[in-house]
Amino acid sequence: MVRLIEVKRRGKTVWAEVAPEACPAGHRGELVPTYGGCPTAECGLPTRYWRCRADGCGDVAIDDEHVHRSGGGTSR
Ligand SMILES: [Zn+2]
Ligand SMILES: [Zn+2]
Repeated sequence: MVRLIEVKRRGKTVWAEVAPEACPAGHRGELVPTYGGCPTAECGLPTRYWRCRADGCGDVAIDDEHVHRSGGGTSR
């Protein structure tokens, strides 16, 4: 889910998308927002996430509101 936060810029209120500042490996400004199946193999639920474009990294930061599908699959 895309969340927006209120940001004051030069006296004007704008809405900015919540995004992590750095990938799990610490690269700043390299995250590319995307939407799709959770990159965690055992989950796969659609979510917002960010893929790091730094050379040789490819780490992903997942929306912190995303709840991974719990294993087992006995519900429902
Ligand atoms: Zn990275
Ligand atoms: Zn997930």
